[in-house]
Amino acid sequence: MPIDATLPYDDSNIFARILRGELPCRKVFEDEFALAFHDINPQAPVHVLVIPKGRYVSWADFTATASDAEIAGFVRAIGTVAADLGLVAPGYRLLANVGQHGHQEVPHLHVHLFGGRQFGAMLPR
Ligand code: AMP
Repeated sequence: MPIDATLPYDDSNIFARILRGELPCRKVFEDEFALAFHDINPQAPVHVLVIPKGRYVSWADFTATASDAEIAGFVRAIGTVAADLGLVAPGYRLLANVGQHGHQEVPHLHVHLFGGRQFGAMLPR
């Protein structure tokens, strides 16, 4: 079920639990600002989730309240992960689902990074 991205941050969400080390993940990158790990239900040969370490539900929340360092760190992590995975030359796709219409299921801001095949046109019509 998609979540309401205007709700307050819920510390029991699955990505919060991964960040606290209560649940395992297949980590690909971590620094002060971000964590990246393989999606548990991959939809492409490469399917990685990049999340900020802070308690943010949506892009509105993140961009309104995160520090410049957190925003830069998160965005930089996405580029670093794509490069580390060898995806810059072949290309890749980034996707961020937000709220009901975006069909966001986990209420912690995240970006999907897909790679390893041709993804075709942007959205199904
Ligand atoms: P979204 O619809 O953008 O909120 O997508 C949430 C994503 O999180 C889905 O692609 C799930 O497969 C993924 N996911 C859920 N639980 C886990 C988990 N424990 N470890 C890794 N990925 C997960």
